[in-house]
Amino acid sequence: MTVSSSRAADAILRGTPVVPGVGAGPALLVRGEVSPEAITRFGSGDFADDDAALAAYDVAAGRVADEFTRKAEQATGVAAEVLSASAGLARDKGLRSAVRKDIAGGTDLVAAVQAAIEKFVGVFTTMGGLMAERVTDLRDIERRLVADIVGEHAPGVPDPSEPSVLVAEDLAPSDTAGLDPELVVALVTERGGATSHTAIIARQLGIPCVVGVSGAADLVTGTFLVVDGETGEIELGADPDQAAGRVEASRQARAAQAAWAGPAATSDGMPVKLLANVADGPTAAQAGTEPVQGVGLFRTELCFLNRKDEPGAEEQADIYSDVLSPYADGRVVVVRTLDAGSDKPIAFATHDGEENPALGVRGLRLSFDNPGLMDRQLDGIKIAAERTGTETWVMAPMVATVAEASDFAEKVRARGLKPGVMVEIPSAALLAHRMLEVVDFLSIGTNDLTQYTMAADRMATDLAHLTDPWQPAVLQLIAITAEAGKQAGKPVGVCGEAAADPLLAVALIGMGVTSLSMAARAVRPVGAQISNVTSDTCEAAAEVALAASDPMAARAAVRELLSG
Ligand code: PEP
Ligand code: MG
Repeated sequence: MTVSSSRAADAILRGTPVVPGVGAGPALLVRGEVSPEAITRFGSGDFADDDAALAAYDVAAGRVADEFTRKAEQATGVAAEVLSASAGLARDKGLRSAVRKDIAGGTDLVAAVQAAIEKFVGVFTTMGGLMAERVTDLRDIERRLVADIVGEHAPGVPDPSEPSVLVAEDLAPSDTAGLDPELVVALVTERGGATSHTAIIARQLGIPCVVGVSGAADLVTGTFLVVDGETGEIELGADPDQAAGRVEASRQARAAQAAWAGPAATSDGMPVKLLANVADGPTAAQAGTEPVQGVGLFRTELCFLNRKDEPGAEEQADIYSDVLSPYADGRVVVVRTLDAGSDKPIAFATHDGEENPALGVRGLRLSFDNPGLMDRQLDGIKIAAERTGTETWVMAPMVATVAEASDFAEKVRARGLKPGVMVEIPSAALLAHRMLEVVDFLSIGTNDLTQYTMAADRMATDLAHLTDPWQPAVLQLIAITAEAGKQAGKPVGVCGEAAADPLLAVALIGMGVTSLSMAARAVRPVGAQISNVTSDTCEAAAEVALAASDPMAARAAVRELLSG
């Protein structure tokens, strides 16, 4: 935390900006806990027997689950999925059984619920990755169950009576899902990283958001805040009239971005390829209507998250054809082979019981002892490419050595397709020039490249300052890779979250990156930003970003350059 002075008019807190835009209003603190007085008052609950206590648990669990379901029905997209999952967790038989056992052992109902949740938290934390991310949801379920049992209103987001900035230690999906962007003008959390639920849902709602703000939870309700989702700065006690001007300017800028319709090029006419990241047929079709020149990352593993058995080549071809078809109009689709393992467990592929799955047998490595898995997938992709006539490139995730790249390229070329590899491991970036001797293109996965360069779990909510693609070491590796592409005259794209950051996009283009692939909703803001700068400015942006000593300084340097 940086507090420039006491909590006076000029104090500034800083965090990781995750959704751009400026929002201003009084702070509204989210009450996270059930009041201790209510719990003490409830005591043991004076139940006639264990069955009565368990019956009270069932009633509370039913009500909490119903409330999640109700909110899920009002929400859409990721928020709806997460809320439905929470409804399922609240009704979970394993959770109920843990509560029942503790009650039978003489524990009071509230303590039994807390102990059962604690057990689940332990299991989820050990599993790591996406499961660890669900710990926030478990804590939310615990608070709601205990509040219901002791007869308190559920803790969480109070209804704002005027446009306010929501401030919390962390926010659960149930807190953020039903938010009205008219009344919640910005979100600030003490914890959470760029991939936390808060960030994902704020992005979906388009609410300016800064996470990982040390000191946020100590703010006082009513303090006037100006939240800048681009710089990550939160001004305390600023002048509301001046703030209104900044908010309006940011609103107009966002409206102009939304109106951008391509094609992407710098203001002096250098074309830039903007591509979409997609997960399946529906997302590919939707993205195809945006001003994109194709798909830069089709995450095939996301089609199989719920599959127990591996689909055969023909069935895979059907699935892939749905993604390729909308781009048969001359656009390209880059298909990534299975990136199963670690935070994306796939029943038929992932190795269980690894001590450290992010560094284990994931991505391309799954084909080391199961080459048929890769062969059948490549056959499926070849059939889909021939059937649809779409220009299809194929890349492998988690490539560490040139030999791996070479073996992969051979298999892909044997099927008449164009091979590339992802640059997600520092070794691949450092050897980019040699990788390009054996493949036709590279695509930098900045999410994992950042994780592995900084040795910081991309899901860890407390390491947001490290898992930041603006980190100097990450920028250096991107620059090395882009330079190798220029030397070889071969395409080098970026397909991690970094490509969706309009400011960073300018610097990436300046480094020599030839395409940017991102979630469909990020395409217009990035395209609009690029259309406002010359290619020389992009190069200057790359230079100042690379020269900066930390992420904050790099962002500030590029922002200053663009405003000058
Ligand atoms: C990345 O690591 O940046 C990437 C694009 O792959 P994923 O996010 O699917 O791991
Ligand atoms: Mg990755």
